[in-house]
Amino acid sequence: MNAKTNIKNLDLRELGGILSGLGVEPYRVRQIAQWIFQKDIASFDEMTNVKKTLLAVLNERFILPRLSIASVQSSADGTRKFLIALEGGRHVECVLIPEPKRTTLCVSSQVGCGMGCKFCLTATMGVIRNLSVYEILEQVACVRRFLRDMVSPVEPRPVKPITNLVFMGMGEPLANTKNLYRALEILIDPHGFGFSRQHITVSTSGLAPEIEKFGHQTPVKLAISLNATTDEVRSEVMPINRKYPLARLIEACRKMHLPKRNRITFEYVMLHDVNDTMEDAKRLVKFLLELKAKINLIPFNEFPGSPFKRPPDDWVLKFQKVLLDKGFVANIRKSRGRDILGACGQLAVQPPHPHTFFG
Ligand code: SAH
Ligand code: SF4
Repeated sequence: MNAKTNIKNLDLRELGGILSGLGVEPYRVRQIAQWIFQKDIASFDEMTNVKKTLLAVLNERFILPRLSIASVQSSADGTRKFLIALEGGRHVECVLIPEPKRTTLCVSSQVGCGMGCKFCLTATMGVIRNLSVYEILEQVACVRRFLRDMVSPVEPRPVKPITNLVFMGMGEPLANTKNLYRALEILIDPHGFGFSRQHITVSTSGLAPEIEKFGHQTPVKLAISLNATTDEVRSEVMPINRKYPLARLIEACRKMHLPKRNRITFEYVMLHDVNDTMEDAKRLVKFLLELKAKINLIPFNEFPGSPFKRPPDDWVLKFQKVLLDKGFVANIRKSRGRDILGACGQLAVQPPHPHTFFG
């Protein structure tokens, strides 16, 4: 007998193709997608409006697995870090950030990361493997289940359902485009998870050829981790810059198709005395002048053994003022969850003891 297919690893077209080959009408395909991704059924038999004969076929051809949460750490500021157990013994982390008006989940795209950025704890793991479509989607599904099952009397601040997704957890999403784009399609499809395309952001370290293609592959937003204003400094802290230097990166941003109302976000991790001088701020302005851009300043989040320093708060404000004075939207990212190593760049699961966090 053929091995059964994981139905959560198919994109909607593939699912439609297989089901229509089995004689299933298109509207039923949409119904089935809704049961799987929106209603998050644990077994096909829960689909009350589907004929017994079709259920039998589904049970014979497909499996409907779930991943589970191995542990949850809660930060004093309400941020929660989830360790998700993957099949085969590996783990990934995702981070839930509740705010008054939205609840953001920061998801991973790879186990580890191969880009080697000097300021990032995930880099110390190297890249272990890409996540599958199923593993990307199940991070969202696992946390959604956690929030649904949360018993309110023990929870002083009930958390609203997830409204926003950012691909800023472990890994370089544009090094895993095949699975990323398929997962994104299901995340924004009204019969899938139903997120707004405006509420999903993919963050990249700057794979220029992939940035050029991005806008044609998906309508969600893109963020680029710029993190320096000279090739010298950027190549030092982000090895990818040796392959795609700043001029190439900016050219890719110019070429990229940008859906209406979208702007590229440039992230700028501020490393004190490395990339945070007033000259840097002025160069940053020059770079971004011709692009539809906004800027997120991220004061460096320290981790045990990290070689960089976080700039003082007043320094960050001075840097921000240069950008604001030139008319840019420039936000300072609050670093949530630092006490549980859940903030940007602090995610790492150390093999072979996946339950041990660094520090
Ligand atoms: N690999 C992708 C997405 C994950 S990293 C990327 O690099 O864009 C998400 C963000 O965290 C990036 O903007 C990255 O520059 C930032 N980051 C990494 N390490 C950090 C640290 N120690 N402190 C603050 N931000 C960090
Ligand atoms: Fe990878 Fe992003 Fe960390 Fe760089 S900052 S090592 S690209 S996760």
